[in-house]
Amino acid sequence: MPVKETNDYKIVTTDGYNMLFDKRDGTMLRWGNTVESDPQVAPLGPELLDLEASTGSCSGLCPWCYKSNTMDSGKHMSLETFQIILDKMGKQLAQVAFGVTDADSNPDFYAMLKHCREKGVIPNYTTSGLGVTEELVALTADVCGAVAVSVYPRSKEIAYETVKRFQLAGVEQTNIHLLYYQENLQFVYEVLHDVVWGEVSPHAVVLLALKAKGRGSNLTPATEKQFSDIVDVAIEDNVPLGFDSCSAPKFERWAKRNGREELLLYSEKCEAACFSSYVNVSGDFFPCSFMEGMEGWEEGISVLDCEGFLNDVWYHPRVIEWRETLLGNCRECPVFDVQRICHARLALPYNSHLHSKQLSISRLSPLPQLCKEVWRPNAPCV
Ligand code: SF4
Ligand code: SF4
Repeated sequence: MPVKETNDYKIVTTDGYNMLFDKRDGTMLRWGNTVESDPQVAPLGPELLDLEASTGSCSGLCPWCYKSNTMDSGKHMSLETFQIILDKMGKQLAQVAFGVTDADSNPDFYAMLKHCREKGVIPNYTTSGLGVTEELVALTADVCGAVAVSVYPRSKEIAYETVKRFQLAGVEQTNIHLLYYQENLQFVYEVLHDVVWGEVSPHAVVLLALKAKGRGSNLTPATEKQFSDIVDVAIEDNVPLGFDSCSAPKFERWAKRNGREELLLYSEKCEAACFSSYVNVSGDFFPCSFMEGMEGWEEGISVLDCEGFLNDVWYHPRVIEWRETLLGNCRECPVFDVQRICHARLALPYNSHLHSKQLSISRLSPLPQLCKEVWRPNAPCV
């Protein structure tokens, strides 16, 4: 059997691809036929699923929401639908990152978290703090590997309070998600300052690059220099830091410029439809949540209707074509301007083959300054 499972581990062994996932702390190791080779695709299906549990019913009304969520009732995935999707995705799946709007919007959300853990797949989710009940805090401590609290200017206090509630309940990996773009850099530094001064002490501050989409279309992605300045300050001040995979190319260039090549081992660039996947509230697959509705992905691929996930979805011609595009672009975003960089000017051409790591250790390895973030932060609530 290519997938072996115990209470503590999930292990996948196939020709050219090996994966070990520690369910207790989220450590993930991935290697090829030898530790010198890096697989580019998970052959049995994704390791991670970003799942949109709800649309609408969100009182956040954030002006940057790429999902353009509002207070409208929207749609909510049922437990039954989630069970079907989870069964179809395959035993190799290790984590589900739920995107909810307000945490109490989807009446089946708690049951989905429980079911996920019962199936040996470790759940995590992102919340703005709105609708987080004491019952959910306790359930999170019981079944989730991690939780991320998005911090926004007008709900900063709610977010910090929510971080503390999770931590008091024993959720060790309580992260902060911090969207960065040109118009909010001052707020980004304000949050870093708050962490330095102990107003809030998350497991890590996870920086998320703006994808100018939905209500965020008019905002401006940060430049490479602005991103580097944030990293400089955070590392100088010992703020535990993590990134979304969209930011990884910028971080890797920062590490090389600053002589911190050892940190490259803890960084992984875009995994969309190579190791991770996104399924929306209707049960449709897209490479990542941001790709939904973009050119070529106006329609997803139905997971609910597929006969076999591998043949009908993971190796669907559109997915294969997407993968070739992404890998051909050295796993840098082929769609969104998240880099804001002129490669020629920086003279730092990136060749993933030259720089790929011998052993991919996902984002949970202990480092003094770099984040231990393992649980992928691409869930729909930014
Ligand atoms: S395809 Fe682009 S937006 Fe989607 S996860 Fe990859 S880098 Fe991010
Ligand atoms: S970013 Fe998150 S909290 Fe804000 S409107 Fe969108 S779903 Fe709601």
